[in-house]
Amino acid sequence: MPQNHSVKRSLEMYERADELIPGRTQLISRRSSQFAHGVSPIYAQRAKGSRFIDVDENEYIDWVSAVGAIILGHADEVVNTAVKEQIDRGSLYTLNSALEIELAELLNAVIPSSEMVRYTKSGGEANAMAARIARGVTGRDVILFSGYHGWHDWYQSANYLVDPESGEFPFAGIEPIGVPKALAGTAIPFVWGNLPALEALLKEHEGTVAAIMMEPLRSELPPKGYLEGVKALAKAHGAVLIFDEVSCGWRIRIGGAQEYVGVTPDMTVLAKAMSNGYPMGAVVGSRDVMEPASRMFISSSYWSDNIGLVATLTTIRELQRRDSARRFEEIGETLRTALNKAIADAGLSGACKGLSYNPAIALDLPDENLRGKVNTLFIQEMARRGIHCNMGFKATLAHTEADIQETARIATEALAIVKSGLDTGDLDKLLQSDLKKEPFRRLVR
Ligand code: PLP
Repeated sequence: MPQNHSVKRSLEMYERADELIPGRTQLISRRSSQFAHGVSPIYAQRAKGSRFIDVDENEYIDWVSAVGAIILGHADEVVNTAVKEQIDRGSLYTLNSALEIELAELLNAVIPSSEMVRYTKSGGEANAMAARIARGVTGRDVILFSGYHGWHDWYQSANYLVDPESGEFPFAGIEPIGVPKALAGTAIPFVWGNLPALEALLKEHEGTVAAIMMEPLRSELPPKGYLEGVKALAKAHGAVLIFDEVSCGWRIRIGGAQEYVGVTPDMTVLAKAMSNGYPMGAVVGSRDVMEPASRMFISSSYWSDNIGLVATLTTIRELQRRDSARRFEEIGETLRTALNKAIADAGLSGACKGLSYNPAIALDLPDENLRGKVNTLFIQEMARRGIHCNMGFKATLAHTEADIQETARIATEALAIVKSGLDTGDLDKLLQSDLKKEPFRRLVR
C-alpha cells in the first residue's frame, strides 16, 4: 500500500501559479489535468537518471521523460560535463560558433535525408521554419498536415476550418484565439493513413500546396506502402514533403523514423530528445530544398547558442556509443511483456502494445465512456506508489531492468484497483483526483 503519499506543496504551488502564469504552465502537456490532478505530482525539484523528486519529497520512476525530451536519462553525466565545460568557454559568442559546422556534419551523417541544416531552440519554432522554407521554395501558401506541430500561427490557423462545437479536426477544445483569420485555409489537416483522402485534398488544392507536413508515425507503424505513397503524391504535386520527427525521432533509430521505415522526406524537423533536455531544434533537408533558405529572412540571436549545440553533439555520440536503438528495443520488449503480465495478473483484458520506443496500455472496457475514469484511476494509483506515467511509457537509456520490474509490480496493484472499480461499478469512489482531460485529439496514432 502507498505510504503517506501527499502532493500538498505541489497543489499549493499550482494554485499560486494561477495568480501568476496564465494557463499555469508553459506546455499544455505539463498541465496537471493531463494526469490525476489531486494525486499526481505537479512540480519537481530535482531529477537524476530514470527518477525525479517532487517538491513534496516523493520519489518517482519517470515514464514521461520530460515529454520525450530526455533520452539518455535526467542530468546525464556525460552531457552535463560537456555542457559545464562549454559554459566555461562561453555560452554565446559574438561570432558564429564552430560547433554549428561540427553538428551539421554529424546530422548529415546520421539523418538519411540531411544535406543542409538550420538550427532553432524548439520543435514548434523548427516547424514554423520548415513551413516558411517550403512556402519560399515553392512560392505556394497551402500546407497539408497530419500531426501536432506546435503553437505558431501558420499551424493553429487550421482551427478556423472546424466547428469548435462539434470538436472535429484538428484540435478540439483549442480555439484559435489571437491567430489572424486571414490565415484560415492556409493549413489544412489530413487523416494519417488514408492515401486516397490525401490525394483528393491535393487535387482540390491543385497548384497551391507548398508542403505535406506530417509526423510519419507515433506509436504504431504506418500502413504498408503509406509513406511511400505520400512521398509519390508530394512529388507528383510539386509539394515539399516534411517529416516532423520531434516526437518520433531519435528513440526508434538515431536516424529517426525515416531510417526505420526507409522512406526519406525532403525536409525533417528535429527537436526534443536530440539534446537530452537542453533547448534545441533543427530543420534538415536536401540541398535543393534547403539552399534557397539562404535568401529568406530566417534569423535569431540564440540559434548559435553553444549549450544546445554541445548538448546535441554529445547526446548523439552517446546514443551511438550506448547502442541506443538496440537498447530501446530491449527495454520496450521487456516493458511490454512485464505490463502484459500485470494486466493479466490483475484479471483484466487488454494489452500493452505499440512500437518498442513508446509502448502503451490499452484496456478492453465494457463501455468506452469509462475510459477517462479508468485511465485517471490507473495514473492516480501509479502516482501514489511512486510511478509517474500516462497510459504510454517513454523510456530513457537510464531505465533499468529493476525500474521495469518495479513498474510492473506496481502496475499490477494499480490495475487490480481498476478491476475492483469496474467489477463493483464504483470507479467514482476510488477516484481521489479530477478526471484527466485530453487537450486535443492527435491526428497520428
Ligand atoms: N512536433 C511534434 C511532433 C511534437 O510532439 C511537439 C511537441 O510535443 C512539437 C512539434 C512542438 O515542439 P516544442 O514543444 O519543442 O515547441
